[in-house]
Order: sequence, then structure tokens, then C-alpha cells
Amino acid sequence: MRVVTDWRIDLIRAHPDLFHPARRAPETACGGYPKCGDGWCELLNSACARIGAALEKSDTLNVVYIGEKLSKLHFCWRGNLSAEAEAKIADAVARAEARAQVTCEECGEEGRLYCSAGVPLTRCVVHARGQPVQVTLGREENVHIVRRVVAGKLRGICCRRYNRETDTFVDVPPYAHWVDLHGEILPSSFEGYEYG
Ligand SMILES: [Zn+2]
Repeated sequence: MRVVTDWRIDLIRAHPDLFHPARRAPETACGGYPKCGDGWCELLNSACARIGAALEKSDTLNVVYIGEKLSKLHFCWRGNLSAEAEAKIADAVARAEARAQVTCEECGEEGRLYCSAGVPLTRCVVHARGQPVQVTLGREENVHIVRRVVAGKLRGICCRRYNRETDTFVDVPPYAHWVDLHGEILPSSFEGYEYG
């Protein structure tokens, strides 16, 4: 008999302190049950392991939603945390969401943005559908606005480029055009950024 396994349920069972599945309900009913393709399994495993490791005894956290919307990963949580734990968790979530933007949602290989019949998709060359989406003027590939961590605590936001090979962020100067595309975020918001 073929046993069908679901990595999403394995993920929830491996991290009950993050997902808090109801005892009498199937894990598929859990609010954090991932609604995305198999290709993002590994990056979600990494994110949950990092989040679990960041929690101290007095911290509480509940993953309320994980899913794909318009080709992007959304990892949503609520918690009552120390400032240090919150900073580590914000970093873990930012890395997972950035990694999803360069990881094929079907197979987990390196991917990029395509558009098929008006629907954006993150896919590798093998699973590509539609046309690759060109990066628009002034917008850098793999650059994200993320919350800035200073001395272990969250302090404002900054522009960072995600490196898929090393799974890390590197600071980059904020680009005026890029910021303009996201009108609500002004250059003055880049608290503490050091140029040069
Ligand atoms: Zn693929």
C-alpha cells in the first residue's frame, strides 16, 4: 500500500509550539497549514527551525497564515515576545519570504518571476509558464525592504539584497526609484542607514 505523506502536516507536527494545532481537529484545519507548492517546503522548514530556536520559555508565538499570493510567500504570525526573539523571528521570516521569490514553487530549484495569462509565478526554467518578467527600471532584483536589526533589536527598516547561495541579506543603499514604486515608504524612513 502506498503511503501518502504531506510535508505540510510533518512541518506542523514538528513545531507544535508554532502552529498549536487543535487536538481534535486534523492538522489541515490549522490556520498555519501552508497553502503553497512543494518547492517551498525546505525554506519553510528552515524558517520554522530558526523561529523555534529563537523562542525563550516566556515567549509565545502562533503562526496564523502561510501561503502564496501573487507569486510571493506570506508568512504571518502573532506573538508575545522579547525584543531579541522578535528581531530573530523577523529576520527568519524575511529570509524565507525573500528566498521564495527566487525559488521554484514546484521543485525548489532556483527560480525567477514569470507571468502566465496575467498570473505571476515563481518558477525554474523546467517548470516555467508564460513569459519571464523583466526587472523594471530602478528596481533591483532580490532587493527587499526589511526591518533593521541593531544590537539584537528591531530599529526601522533598510534595503537589503538577498543572496540565495549564502541565504543571507547584504545591506545596499536605498534606491530612489525603487522607493518611489512603494510610495508609502520615504527615504527619511531609513533610520540609521550608513552610506558608503
Ligand atoms: Zn522547478
